[in-house]
Amino acid sequence: MSESPLNPDELAAAYLKSRDVPCPNCAYNRRGGVTAACPECGHDLAILHEDGGWKKQHRQLATRILTMLLVLCIVQVLMSGYATIFWLNMAIFSAASSMTLYLYLIQGVVGLIAYLALSIFTVRVRRRTRSDQEITATKVSSPMLAYLIVTILLWLSSFMYEFF
Ligand SMILES: [Zn+2]
Repeated sequence: MSESPLNPDELAAAYLKSRDVPCPNCAYNRRGGVTAACPECGHDLAILHEDGGWKKQHRQLATRILTMLLVLCIVQVLMSGYATIFWLNMAIFSAASSMTLYLYLIQGVVGLIAYLALSIFTVRVRRRTRSDQEITATKVSSPMLAYLIVTILLWLSSFMYEFF
């Protein structure tokens, strides 16, 4: 975990600036306080000693979201795989092979490769999120964005079959 550049007093000041926080010892409202120690009783704010409990929660939330995304990716891999096998079977054994049939087959293969790559990407981001590396919204949302783009592109590409 990266070292915080703020000292306990600066952290307390930032945290207390806009929050009603009772002192854990004497319940004095610490809002607007600029020191970690309570001016009434000298007790330090408990939150400064919990080693970023909120950070752990963010990590858990991010990991959970990425797990759900991974499940979605795997479902898409299975569906694309099934479509690929189905249309490959049709292409080989069906006498009436058409352009549309090959387009479906190509879409199945493209989807299979894209969602497989996305699954690997999601696993990697999820692993990094679970370990002690800095979590940023960009890092966590990039596989989601990639999933959306791939899904929208594949969905849009199915419209071009209308022209054949
Ligand atoms: Zn106090």
